[in-house]
Amino acid sequence: MLIVQKYGGTSVGNVERIEAVANRVIESKKAGHDLVVVVSAMSGETNKLLEYADYFSKSPNQREVDMLLSSGERVTSALLAIALEAKGYEAVSMSGRRAGIVTDNVHTKARIEHIDTSGMEEELKKGRIIVVAGFQGVTESGEVSTLGRGGSDLSAVAVAGALKADLCEIYTDVDGVYTTDPRIEPKAKKLDKISYDEMLELASLGAKVLQSRSVEMAKKLNVNLVTRSSFNNNEGTLITKEDNIMEQPLVSGIALDKNQARVTLRGVTDKPGIAAEIFQKLADSNVNVDMIIQNVGHDGTTNLGFTVPQNELEITKQAMGELKASSVMEYDSEIVKVSVVGVGMKSHSGVACKAFDTMAKEGINIEMISTSEIKISMVVHAKYGELAVRALHSAYQLDK
Ligand code: ADP
Ligand code: ASP
Ligand code: MG
Repeated sequence: MLIVQKYGGTSVGNVERIEAVANRVIESKKAGHDLVVVVSAMSGETNKLLEYADYFSKSPNQREVDMLLSSGERVTSALLAIALEAKGYEAVSMSGRRAGIVTDNVHTKARIEHIDTSGMEEELKKGRIIVVAGFQGVTESGEVSTLGRGGSDLSAVAVAGALKADLCEIYTDVDGVYTTDPRIEPKAKKLDKISYDEMLELASLGAKVLQSRSVEMAKKLNVNLVTRSSFNNNEGTLITKEDNIMEQPLVSGIALDKNQARVTLRGVTDKPGIAAEIFQKLADSNVNVDMIIQNVGHDGTTNLGFTVPQNELEITKQAMGELKASSVMEYDSEIVKVSVVGVGMKSHSGVACKAFDTMAKEGINIEMISTSEIKISMVVHAKYGELAVRALHSAYQLDK
């Protein structure tokens, strides 16, 4: 079998852990598998590098940020290759460029356009273990790019898809995907299986156990994806097609997204084309706008509220600064988004009502709401985020 294994930041957090990863990789090699290993930077490293840049500038050149951030994963990939060689196994580390990962040129959240697998295939033929630096690629013009936070998951899935690997294993610091973040709710239950769509929803709503674009890609390329712990041998969670899952629960999980900020524009001229103008500005700046609320107009003006990722607030402010359509702008970072996710919701009514009722009983004010067929999201004050998660987890009986 050809297996792609990805090890996250905590799993490669120091040299002893890198050695433990090397031993795991060797176990798989001994079992007769071909291996491509994708690694993250040591935990905390990417944030540390970002803080260094922040010392000099609040809006650093994004190309330079990518040069900076990509270094973290290069360190761990080289160290793991050195550890494997020291144990008598032939290994070769590869940067995103050497692995043939070509992206668009949106620095700090580039999309993978294609992967030239020839370099990896050559090394696999020689029987070597390949260690790819995750989270990075290279643009057509040769610039280093990174794939967005948590992007090593995406590197692993994309490489697995391109090489038509039999399996993609994401090794992390929890046993798999739980009904909610087990660090917030210790009563959370591990799921044996979850559908691509539900996982995608949970991931894009803040469950960082898998990066959302990696799930999107796994679904598209039909990658067999498993997430499990690098610290034990427990069975993980299989992320698979909906038809492979017999019983669909009403609600499968609760997600919390703390990386949210709200922008409110007051006194926006109420005329056709105004929303297009505002959101075009944000699109041009590559800001991901999420919930949008427009109030009923009054006296020729209206109020418009929307959420953006907190780490895109500076860019949002710059983009909104160029706008003449509104008189007052307010920014609020003290918010979080809690979401209830489940494909079973499609065919049931009253699911949303229970969520609102639960918030009411806890005395939590809901500031924004959005729903789709398989999720309900609510924006609440940041101080209530974890309480809301636990209350919803219990209300939908996910601890049972
Ligand atoms: P890695 O560094 O291995 O990529 P991450 O920190 O990105 O690991 O993701 C793993 C973390 O995701 C866990 O430690 C856990 O706190 C968090 N998490 C959030 N939601 C969930 C969930 N539903 N199931 C499991 N873990 C979750
Ligand atoms: N090191 C990067 C991050 O912290 C990518 C990853 O860990 O997946 O976001
Ligand atoms: Mg991660």
